[in-house]
Amino acid sequence: MLTLHSAPIVLPVVSEPIGDGAVLVDGDRIAAVGPRGQLAAEHPEAREHAWSGVLTPGLVNAHAHLQYTDFEELNSIDEPFPVWLGRMVAKRPTFTEAMWQESARRGLRLMLAAGTTAVADIVTEPEVLEPTAQSGIAGISYLEAVFEDAQSWSDSGRARILAALADAPVGRTLGMSPHTPYTIATAVFADCVAIARARGLRTHTHVAESEAEVRYVATGDGPFADDMLRFGKAMELIRDGGSVLTPVGFLDKIGALGPDVHAAHCVHCDASDREILRSRGVYAALCVRSNRILQAGEPPVADYLAEGSPFAIGTDSLASSPSLDLLEEAATLRDLALVQGYDEFDLDRRIVEAATLGGAAAMGLTDVGRLDQGARADLAVFAVPTLDALTGAEPGEVYAALLDAAAAKMHQCVATVLGGTVVHDTQS
Ligand SMILES: [Zn+2]
Repeated sequence: MLTLHSAPIVLPVVSEPIGDGAVLVDGDRIAAVGPRGQLAAEHPEAREHAWSGVLTPGLVNAHAHLQYTDFEELNSIDEPFPVWLGRMVAKRPTFTEAMWQESARRGLRLMLAAGTTAVADIVTEPEVLEPTAQSGIAGISYLEAVFEDAQSWSDSGRARILAALADAPVGRTLGMSPHTPYTIATAVFADCVAIARARGLRTHTHVAESEAEVRYVATGDGPFADDMLRFGKAMELIRDGGSVLTPVGFLDKIGALGPDVHAAHCVHCDASDREILRSRGVYAALCVRSNRILQAGEPPVADYLAEGSPFAIGTDSLASSPSLDLLEEAATLRDLALVQGYDEFDLDRRIVEAATLGGAAAMGLTDVGRLDQGARADLAVFAVPTLDALTGAEPGEVYAALLDAAAAKMHQCVATVLGGTVVHDTQS
């Protein structure tokens, strides 16, 4: 059955904005994108949804933890990252299987209501795979290994991950997530990547998020070393007095970077780190609002832009983020780029690309984050206050209007279409 989703402005991202445009959907795929009048004339049998707003591809969140949605009380504790991490660890045992699932379900609802239709989700409790698969949201669930040294990994950690991979519900693509260079022993980190590669799965990890991590990887001491020693973990970096490398340099040295990997945060990345990421084809999932809440620093997004270093955008979880609204996250990142001195004409477009195409590329997906024939029919419609002025506007003005509206919190996700099905609709 054909459906025509029309809007005053259609923003395919992979091509120029279309005034009075439409997206023709056949089942769960996009059949055509073009002027509304033309598509309606060619397909008079199509049922039309006439939306009011800017119609974009569904947004792609490149870093999240759906299961921590109900940990949102932690996003206001106003403590630096190592202290926050301790609170996370302390709260985790208070959650039951049903609570993890309900927390993930709420996160999924929030994302879909904000126009996000694909997510790179870190999964620590495999029971959240079920609600995620059921939701139909696109993207990858990355099974996380965390707090593992060689002993705990061979005793139980490795078997637990392999069992989760084997028992996962159908309908959800899986990946591997070795948590960080400081919570995973070096040999275990390399094994996680090897497990993924042996199965043709992708890897997603946290890298260069905080100063404490930079110190730990370089010298093997500091607050994270204290934590690992307290947990009784035998870590090579502590034993060896560090690697004298940056987190990115260290992961590259152990063979853990490549085009099958994307990395969250990448805040403390200098020019040579970014060169490594770029040359390995590693997308950085930037999460500026989470970095601020955790007092972790600010990602050098202006440098990423100026150098052409690949990046995507993530919200992180509600435990360290004010919302799961990716357009707000994107607007905050755009504003940071301006503050850092990047004011080229392409800024708005490239930030919107990062929130769509960038997230897709970070996960190796070619059929999301774009309005294009053959892509998944994942659409979002955003109300923007300047909509009437956008007809006939320059393309750059359309991208700017979308981000300006989000920066002023004047945007609203009018509708979300997931795999051809309207799953959020404030208009009817
Ligand atoms: Zn994270």
